[in-house]
Amino acid sequence: MKSVSGRIARRFRDSSISSKLLILAAVSCAAGVTMCSIGFVANDLNTLRTEKSLRIETQAQMLAFNSSAVILFEQTEAGEDLLAAFASQPTVELAALYSAEGDIIAQYVSGSSAAVPPSAEMLQAGSQFKDDYLHHTEPVIDAGEEVGSLFVLSNLEDVHDQISDYVFIAALMTMLSLTASLVVASVLQRVISIPVSDLAQTARSITDSEDYSVRVDLSQGDELGTLYDCFNKMLERIECSKTELREANETLEDRVEQRTNELEVAMEEANQANQAKSMFLANMSHEIRTPMNAILGFTDLLRRDAAIGEAERAEFLDTIHSSGKHLVALINDILDLSKVEAGKMEVEVVEESPHQIIAEAISVMRVPAKEKGLSLEYAWNGPVPSTISTDASRLRQLLINLIGNAIKFTHKGGVQVSVEVIEPEIESEHVLKIDVIDSGIGIPAHKMEEIFRPFSQVDASVTREYGGTGLGLTISRRIARALGGELEVTSEPGSGSVFSVRISAGQLEDVRFLSQPPIADVVSLDPNYAIGSRPELKGANILLVEDGGTNRRMIGIMLDRYGVNVSEAENGQIGVNLATNNAYDLILMDMQMPVMDGYTAVAALRANGLRTPIVALTAHAMKGDEAKCRAAGCTDYLTKPIDEDRLVKKLGEYLHIEASDSDKPAEEFEPIRSCLAYDDPDYREIIEDFLHILDDRVAEMKLLQASHDFAELRQAAHWLKGTAGTAGFDQFTIPAIRLSKAIAKEDTESIESALVSIAELAAAIERPETESVGM
Ligand code: ADP
Repeated sequence: MKSVSGRIARRFRDSSISSKLLILAAVSCAAGVTMCSIGFVANDLNTLRTEKSLRIETQAQMLAFNSSAVILFEQTEAGEDLLAAFASQPTVELAALYSAEGDIIAQYVSGSSAAVPPSAEMLQAGSQFKDDYLHHTEPVIDAGEEVGSLFVLSNLEDVHDQISDYVFIAALMTMLSLTASLVVASVLQRVISIPVSDLAQTARSITDSEDYSVRVDLSQGDELGTLYDCFNKMLERIECSKTELREANETLEDRVEQRTNELEVAMEEANQANQAKSMFLANMSHEIRTPMNAILGFTDLLRRDAAIGEAERAEFLDTIHSSGKHLVALINDILDLSKVEAGKMEVEVVEESPHQIIAEAISVMRVPAKEKGLSLEYAWNGPVPSTISTDASRLRQLLINLIGNAIKFTHKGGVQVSVEVIEPEIESEHVLKIDVIDSGIGIPAHKMEEIFRPFSQVDASVTREYGGTGLGLTISRRIARALGGELEVTSEPGSGSVFSVRISAGQLEDVRFLSQPPIADVVSLDPNYAIGSRPELKGANILLVEDGGTNRRMIGIMLDRYGVNVSEAENGQIGVNLATNNAYDLILMDMQMPVMDGYTAVAALRANGLRTPIVALTAHAMKGDEAKCRAAGCTDYLTKPIDEDRLVKKLGEYLHIEASDSDKPAEEFEPIRSCLAYDDPDYREIIEDFLHILDDRVAEMKLLQASHDFAELRQAAHWLKGTAGTAGFDQFTIPAIRLSKAIAKEDTESIESALVSIAELAAAIERPETESVGM
């Protein structure tokens, strides 16, 4: 039984949605109609029985009323006649009259019935339905006294017939309702079953064909509509993912190949870097050992052999000195290169005069060029901006290296430095191009790229013949790149080379272009690079704060030869005490010392209000160190090992003002003229207006400097920079920029030095004849 119901349930579950809907409609309709019919039939059955019982009771009461005489007088015949009245009721099968004693007086039995009257004890008053029969017992009353009973037995065939009719009608109605409900359901179920079966069909075909571009369409606001929308969105996502997957698969091979290539390149680069590192270390070791061996070897010789002649001793000392210098140059180059390699090359881009930078570099190299009998020329190919945005010291370093190489590798002819500005392409920056052209030995074509690699020289004999580290061009190219440009070379072996450096000059819209280099010689503007007679240092009082006894002795001996009075201090603490209690013209301060270091000592002295120039001495050749020393309060900076020329030059820079103020003749400067035409009345008016105010402004600037009114002084420097250029005196542009920079740093020594340069330039101006005024 259980398995049958289970099978039915399974079959129902597996049947189609439309079958399910029809079955549901039919079952619910049949159940409803059947329940109603059962209710009606039961009700009718009850009603029919009640009616029948009433009818029999009424007839029995009528006959009982007339039967008392029959019973009292035991008139059997008359009784039977009376009971024959039940013949009109076909369902009455038996009727009997009983006396009070229980004897049957008369009885009626319908023709077809086999019923027999029950005994008087069995009789129960009233009507009872028993075994498909109605039993009714009616008392017979005479003069208020019960004299007997009338018993009637009726079958229920009439009631059953009627109920059968009702059941038949109910069954008919159920059938009709069922049919009607199936018809209606089969029409209505499509609203649900068709979309569901369509969806199922589509899902099946998508599964087979894997075509996710198919979409289903149903505009219904019910759950089916939502199901369709979700189904479409799901398809969209699957299609998208499949497309991405396909594309990823399609490009996978390419990517794998590309990655493999990249990996190979990276491995190759890593190998090369490794090799380069090993080579670099080997080269460095060799480069350092060679001069070291010379130094150690010759010092050993000098120590051991007291009999060495004067000339030989001098030669040995020269070799030791040049080896030491080479070592310092090498260490500086390596430090620079390591910073470049580590990407730490600091570039301080500020407004600078390109002419000033190039002229300074040329100025430095003039002596070696002269010593080799080579010309060193400087030319402009077209107008050059008065200022550009760049790092002056880096560009200067690069140019000194290129010009130095050009001089080194040239034996006859000369070197030319030519400058031009390349107009920018749309929206890009101007480019400053500087060519260093020489008529030297040239470079073979296959070496032209190699020489830019560290320690690369055209051939090994170069080192023997010319010296050098092979690092200069590597550093120079990195500098050019850091300045937004490039360094390239073209060369013809035997004829010469051209090293072209291009750097970004920044935006030059508001910058004045000069048509020719300013007349004032750059040498007078930066005493660092001045070439000339030794400065007058005699009688100067200097405090040397240095912990190293050897260094103290060496510097003491050097300065003694110049007539400088040197007081010595072993550490910062002693230095501070001496400087506080004595007046010195300048302090040389080592920065790394025990007890109290130079930074603390300088800060303490400045905090005490000491304004004496302090020059830092430090073994740290890194760029940031200079800024650190200046931040501590140092005026200037010198690196160790101390070179006599640089030391003396630096001292001259700070001590010559007092010493030479009175005796330095203004005639040292060539007369300065405006580049505007004096004979043009309009230009002449501009020049004269400027000259008229110039002397007053220069005097005013000195007063402003004395009163430390830096705001007003900055205005004055700005005026000078703009107005002097307009009046054709570009010579003032550079000192005015120097003055502005010094004011920004509130560096009183530099302000003073710039003001001296400005005053000297003003004094050197060739004034137009007075009688020409008013022309
Ligand atoms: P260094 O000059 O210290 O050897 P560089 O990197 O500056 O190192 O130069 C590398 C090499 O390039 C030089 O050794 C030389 O062989 C070659 N070279 C550089 N400049 C010139 C030049 N102007 N003429 C000929 N050869 C040059």
